[in-house]
Amino acid sequence: MKRPWFGDVHRRGEVGQNRYALTFDDGPLPGATDRILDHMKALDAPATFFVVGLFAERWPDLVRRIHDEGHVIANHTWDHWRWGMWCPPGYWRKQIVRTDDLIEKLIGRRPAMFRPPYGVRTPVNHYITRNSAHANIMWTRRAFDGIATTADRIEKRLLATAADGDVLVLHDGREPASRRDASPTVDAVPGVIAGFRSRGLRPAPLHELLNLSAYQ
Ligand SMILES: [Zn+2]
Repeated sequence: MKRPWFGDVHRRGEVGQNRYALTFDDGPLPGATDRILDHMKALDAPATFFVVGLFAERWPDLVRRIHDEGHVIANHTWDHWRWGMWCPPGYWRKQIVRTDDLIEKLIGRRPAMFRPPYGVRTPVNHYITRNSAHANIMWTRRAFDGIATTADRIEKRLLATAADGDVLVLHDGREPASRRDASPTVDAVPGVIAGFRSRGLRPAPLHELLNLSAYQ
């Protein structure tokens, strides 16, 4: 999608192949990311994790495990600061480069996909992501699981409009300042995958669905 001030945004994937993508934001987080990885392994489903740099630094083994089990790591800023949207280019450059540097140290690859916190795109963060070789990734459907909810509500919400090319966003982590319990998200994962499967849709890696590179 072309927008004069916001550049290219990737939202819905290619249609015609009965695929969708699962993405998880705000992790990694022990007790959530690891349990989601267990589900993904049991269900043979790929996912993309938009990690927060400071959590990746705190729990590097989870980042390595995501990568080792065949999933993709993407960039979701260093500290997920709520008011970053008002910050100048230098702030965004630091947020993105510091997170890429850490991920490269952990898995040997630099992400090529970025999602801004809260999905808030500004001309500034778009300019910086474009200039640092990242694609800006949004979604077609979000779980609204960053707030208090239940697995049942998450499943119903995501399955209500399940469609070819969907990009789903769930949260395996939390905002750094919050104490969110990610259990409803963990518990919803098998039902979401089963529900999409019953509609003839299979999970695909996000970058394949969007025809992008996962890494630089
Ligand atoms: Zn986020």
